[in-house]
Amino acid sequence: MSAEHPLTASPLEGRSPFDLRVNQSRGVPESAIKQALESGDMGFLHSFTTGSTVDGPGVRLVAWTAGCQWRCLYCHNPDTWNMMNGMPVTIERATEELRKYRHGLKVMSGGLTLSGGEPLMQDRFAVKLFTAAQAMGIHTAVETNGFLGERLSDEELEKIDLVLLGIKTWDPEKHRKLTGKDIGPTLDFARRLAARKKSVWIRFVLVPGLTDDALDLAQIAKFIAGLGNVERVEVLPFHQMGRYKWKELGIDYKLEDIEPPTNALAEWACGLFRAEGLKAN
Ligand code: SF4
Repeated sequence: MSAEHPLTASPLEGRSPFDLRVNQSRGVPESAIKQALESGDMGFLHSFTTGSTVDGPGVRLVAWTAGCQWRCLYCHNPDTWNMMNGMPVTIERATEELRKYRHGLKVMSGGLTLSGGEPLMQDRFAVKLFTAAQAMGIHTAVETNGFLGERLSDEELEKIDLVLLGIKTWDPEKHRKLTGKDIGPTLDFARRLAARKKSVWIRFVLVPGLTDDALDLAQIAKFIAGLGNVERVEVLPFHQMGRYKWKELGIDYKLEDIEPPTNALAEWACGLFRAEGLKAN
């Protein structure tokens, strides 16, 4: 793909992942997208956030990738599902952008995080960007649902310093209802990361009435604790900041009336993880 595609000239300004962004790749031929995905020479990004303190250690530059095969009922970024909603960015431009922040990221003990969407939908781009980041001495993290973890070789996994792995529920049937996909590949990826002693933080979204079943949580906690490589568990309270996106996109939103969890419920959930000896917050 040509690095001069006119659409790649749009500025990479920092934007919030909570902005609704659609059709940023309008006009990019399908063949070019296919080639970009295979080569990793170009990625499709929903937005960039600078200065994040909640997407890995220290202060992070976060690139939100477009494209996700899952359909989580509580997804707050459904505009990232479609890769065409992402802005095409060449690997050269993304690397250049990263270079601008490298000193600051190091000083603030931070790094680069790829989130989404599902970053491993663009696994070649992710590997190239992480390789470039590590070459600049920048810490790398990926936030993933793990479903496509098999796409990364063991060698490529070494380009990632930390995996922020989302686990949604333990029950396979419930997982299908919640996400539209099987839980197996995520758990296989978790086991593989454990075998390689890779640093992992688990992210768990707490949705009242949907993911707050005590037995389910206890089973997740037991599994995670048994892995031996999980440094912390982050219990993320469900919120409604993405509700308007579902409406704007015309997608049926089933969690319209669900309230965020109370502090007490979040603390209770953390307690179940701590009971297995895990660090949870
Ligand atoms: S895996 Fe993440 S981006 Fe994909 S649907 Fe679920 S919450 Fe949304």
